[in-house]
Amino acid sequence: MLKVLSETSGTNHMKLDESVKAAGLTPTADLLQDAAQRALAYVQSVHDRPVNVSTQALQGLNEFRHSLPHAGLDAHEVLRRLDEAGSPATVPTTGGRYFGLVIGGAMPATIAANWLATAWDQNACFRWTSPIAAALEEVALRWIGDLFGLPDDIGGAFVTGASLANFAALAAARHALLSRLGWDVEAKGLYGAPELRVVVSKETHVTVSKALSMLGLGRERVIVVPTDQQGRMRVSELPELDEQTIVCIQAGNVNTGDFDPAREICRLARKAGAWVHVDGAFGLWALANRDFDTLTDGVAEADSWATDGHKWLNVPYDNGIVLVRRAATLRAAMSLNAAYLAEGDVTDREPSHYTPESSRRARGVDIWAALLNLGRDGVAGLIERTCRYAGIFAQGLEASGFEVLNHVALNQVLVSFGTPEMTRAVINRLQADGICWCGGTVWQGRVAMRISVSSWATTDADVQTSLQAMIHAAEACAP
Ligand SMILES: *Cc1c(COP(=O)(O)O)cnc(C)c1O
Repeated sequence: MLKVLSETSGTNHMKLDESVKAAGLTPTADLLQDAAQRALAYVQSVHDRPVNVSTQALQGLNEFRHSLPHAGLDAHEVLRRLDEAGSPATVPTTGGRYFGLVIGGAMPATIAANWLATAWDQNACFRWTSPIAAALEEVALRWIGDLFGLPDDIGGAFVTGASLANFAALAAARHALLSRLGWDVEAKGLYGAPELRVVVSKETHVTVSKALSMLGLGRERVIVVPTDQQGRMRVSELPELDEQTIVCIQAGNVNTGDFDPAREICRLARKAGAWVHVDGAFGLWALANRDFDTLTDGVAEADSWATDGHKWLNVPYDNGIVLVRRAATLRAAMSLNAAYLAEGDVTDREPSHYTPESSRRARGVDIWAALLNLGRDGVAGLIERTCRYAGIFAQGLEASGFEVLNHVALNQVLVSFGTPEMTRAVINRLQADGICWCGGTVWQGRVAMRISVSSWATTDADVQTSLQAMIHAAEACAP
């Protein structure tokens, strides 16, 4: 594999050198052409590559493990090394048969826009450091709010992922509840502050717990609500809510894909003056498809939302989005200088007043490109297609006598191949075969293989090939 790749790229490179000379390109243009050619070769070969990393490729990484030379290397040589030893050691998540974690692939329009934006190298911190980044963030936020049916004056920001989106949203929640009680948490911290209560479910994602720990709210100092067989919060077991309570719910359980009952929880919270935060890292995108209205019912009634661009929207890493019902609340929690931009002040949106980061790349560009390239129908279609594929996996595996452990509400499937040992053996076998890739999980005490269909690149043929590979792996492991 390594050899084949390097030979191919070597040939391309020679051809490129000649054409570059003929075209009279500058050294910079020549280098960027070289990078584009290599990236193209990668993108075009990734679909046919085994969906794992070979031992040879892993050994090849030793080529990088030398001391830093005194003299720098020519940029072409740097790139050559990266491609020849680096490309084979990538996990081919963008090829259409990778179903691990909740990993999307980068759509061509988003890779292309991302390249151009990297060449721009804009600092998206302020409007004046990048008018284009600020403008596209505003446009993309408006489009997302519109797609999800969220209120007009939502605020938002582009962060590294749902982890930071959860963090920023919960900081906004902390601000909102404490400021209503007359406490300025940004100025005074939590020392002597009125106590907040945080309600989570037994299925709360670890990144929500981490955000709570970073915010001084404590990952253990929470009230944990039990869940049902789909991992949904049992509303009947919610504690009494009040204006000092933050309720963290999920839109898209990482195992089952199911949603907490948002309508009822938001109704109770609204009545009590509590704050509802939704972790919708992937699931929030189901709001863009009306066929999922029953599942998503009430999600738009929450106070804040966290989601990812790099999962289901299929933009390059890293890209997460935080959304808060009132822009001013997020701004108050994230503002670089609260005195200079007081809450309620209606001025142009200054990006850095909405994010934990200051200097940042222009992440809004990738989201804008994805949304414009897909259009409303394309986003809805991506959700529909990937969920349909999840359904095909579930039906196909059940028809072959294997047990699907979840009701497939979205794009996630959990399957057991029998005993825990048998399921683990099938997962190992499947991963070694390299036709498709799935990981393992433990769902309500049972070992399961987890299939997450999140990539734009997955086709009908990929699903059939992968389903056969799963069944063959199970047959090969049968006692
Ligand atoms: C992936 C995921 C996260 C974390 O997102 P990152 O992009 O990895 O930061 C949080 N919550 C849920 C439900 C997720 O699926």
